[in-house]
Amino acid sequence: MLRWLWRAVLALLVLGLLAAGVASWRFARYAPADPAIAPDTKAQAYFIDDYASARQAFLDRGAALAQRLERVERFAIPVASRQGVPGLFVDGLYLPAQREPRRLLILSSAVHGVEGPTGSAVTRLFMDEFISDALLADTGVLLLHALNPWGFAQQRRFTESNVDLNRNASTTDALYQTQNAGYPMVDPLINPQGPADLGAWAHRLFLLRSIAQIAQHGMPVLRQAVLQGQYAYPKGIYYGGRTLEPQLAALAPRLGAILAQYPLSMSIDLHTGYGARGQLHVFLNPPENPRLREGLEAVFAGQTIDWGSGKDFYTVTGDVTAWIGALRQTGAHLPAVFEYGTLDSQTTLGAVKSLHITVLENQGVQHGYASAEDEARIQRDYREMFNPSSPAWRTKVIHDSRAMLGHVLERLPKVSVQP
Ligand SMILES: [Zn+2]
Repeated sequence: MLRWLWRAVLALLVLGLLAAGVASWRFARYAPADPAIAPDTKAQAYFIDDYASARQAFLDRGAALAQRLERVERFAIPVASRQGVPGLFVDGLYLPAQREPRRLLILSSAVHGVEGPTGSAVTRLFMDEFISDALLADTGVLLLHALNPWGFAQQRRFTESNVDLNRNASTTDALYQTQNAGYPMVDPLINPQGPADLGAWAHRLFLLRSIAQIAQHGMPVLRQAVLQGQYAYPKGIYYGGRTLEPQLAALAPRLGAILAQYPLSMSIDLHTGYGARGQLHVFLNPPENPRLREGLEAVFAGQTIDWGSGKDFYTVTGDVTAWIGALRQTGAHLPAVFEYGTLDSQTTLGAVKSLHITVLENQGVQHGYASAEDEARIQRDYREMFNPSSPAWRTKVIHDSRAMLGHVLERLPKVSVQP
């Protein structure tokens, strides 16, 4: 009898280990399939990985528009680098409504630097295909290229000070006192110490350790703890800083002056990394004011919206789109984010993989790498997560953006929001 019991326990143990081994093996090789779409070379040509070249392509188009249109404003906010990275700017192009200023549309990119190639590509698509005399008759357009140029140039999500700009944007300093109660609980998992080593057991077992945490606390609690933003761990991921980052501080008065000229504004902040691979997710944090929510619903009528209040969702503190709205003294602002999914992060495996890639990259930046091979692998995975090289993915981004921007421009003029 005892022998039977012993054998059963042993069999279960072996089965458990096998299952864990298979899961970890799958995790290590995780790569969701590309969207089924024939690659289009013209669409792919919008993607420029190198910051300086992407910036120049934006500036060249801006110069051409300034020749053709009245009262165009171009500005460049320099971003100083402690390491001495030269040529970093937040570039702005403001095309005022040419007859009657009824509404303002803002597109912003590279708030997360490494996501910049996609944001820059979509911005230039917009410049090539959607700026027309008819649009500009009563709609002003403000394009903000590379809010985190250091991160774009260095292929990091965060700024040189390890600040996540999308957790840092606030009109008051109260944000930086925010306590993220769940963060200390996840800190050992997401901010490991010592050089980043892909062979370390902590990383080999990252999936299982994450699943143990999910089992203990539940996915919504963990997601919120990790992604909300934090203000107490300067070397940790999703750090929102202690004060407003210099380029946002420099941008604020300029933005405020332009916003004041329009009774209604809408901003679309361009991001990658969240959601189903190759899919454009319209990602909205529901505004407290129900009329603003109705306004957003009217603009995106017929489209799937990922509301920040949904079950798979989380709320963030210090996001850029809400900050732009807070710079208004009067009038109404509709904040929106476009997220182009890369790793199917809506699935548990995809979410844990995305987190692991983020954790390894930050560990490497903060504490170095165990080997040159590990460094190359970690940085490649990180770049592929936020700036996929896949021709099908890039084609889909441009095609979907063209359709969605067309939809927004058709609906926005019909929307009136009483603040
Ligand atoms: Zn992002």
